[in-house]
Amino acid sequence: MQQGENILQEVFESVAAAGHRRGRGCASCQRQKEMEFEDMEMETGIGGWIQDAVRKAGQFAGAAALLGKTMADFSRGAIHDETDITNTIFYGKYPQYAGKKIPASDKNAAADWLRIRKDVVRPVFGNIARQAGAGVSACTITNRIAFANRNLMKQGKNGPFPLLVKSLSPRKLANIDGIVLHQMAFSRGNDLNRYNEVGAHYIVMHDGKIGQLFENTAFLNASNGFNSRTVAIEFAGHFPDENYNWWKGNSSRTLLTPAQLQAGRCLVKQIKADVPSVKHIYAHRQSSGDRSNDPGPDIWLGVGQWAISQLGLSDVKNGVAQIGNGGQAVPAGWRKGRAI
Ligand SMILES: [Zn+2]
Repeated sequence: MQQGENILQEVFESVAAAGHRRGRGCASCQRQKEMEFEDMEMETGIGGWIQDAVRKAGQFAGAAALLGKTMADFSRGAIHDETDITNTIFYGKYPQYAGKKIPASDKNAAADWLRIRKDVVRPVFGNIARQAGAGVSACTITNRIAFANRNLMKQGKNGPFPLLVKSLSPRKLANIDGIVLHQMAFSRGNDLNRYNEVGAHYIVMHDGKIGQLFENTAFLNASNGFNSRTVAIEFAGHFPDENYNWWKGNSSRTLLTPAQLQAGRCLVKQIKADVPSVKHIYAHRQSSGDRSNDPGPDIWLGVGQWAISQLGLSDVKNGVAQIGNGGQAVPAGWRKGRAI
């Protein structure tokens, strides 16, 4: 973090002139900021790490104000793409480039942009390990069953096949013994209306909204070999692997927000309460050879591993950690999380 703090110091030197001086000159500004953090902590239950990061990065006048606002937006899921977050901080130092391409002649600015992403955005915003110890807050599940596409056909190796298998639905509740976590690998923002064709029982937005598209008892072709006995959760977004590589190129680069993490935990807890036979939690990669980063290390650590340690679920059944279709066990690195 040392290098990150230095970059932030450079970035916010100009902001300091605005008079947001910690503890002096603008005590009410500082108090207001602290109250925002306290609100955020109450809403998400996990504000402590954010305050800590702000304190570390903001040991100079002005830093906490802009960084704190960006973090508050991120915490609520209003901003969730690492490029957008990097731009927000970068424009603090280079307002002349706001909304524009950095000219090739300004090599320093281009290098700064990359340094801000590497040394500030990823370690502070992109490291879910900071939140792994937090608990779970309340959530609301919006019933979207009437809006789900019940005749949706999915493309597969053997031609189109139905998402909802009506002949096998409803399943017996007592036969459902697990939950499968997925990432959508795309984002259409936070509007539940824009995800009616997602193939899962539940969808979780960046801002923590949850939609239920199918009854728990619906048989969905969502999770390959796990289909007959699990409930599928899809997280909106395109999430990175352990090395910040994104599966489908660079069109979007989602980071898991605190709001989305909390909603995922709350949803898993609710499903377990609604379906008492649930004993397992799985990553889609465990049943699919071409989904090796589904749901990816951050959702797994924040939600899957949390459910293992806090709810007593397991990603192994009868000693078997993967099934069919080239599935692979959850990597050890996903359980530990990124280095802080
Ligand atoms: Zn999946």
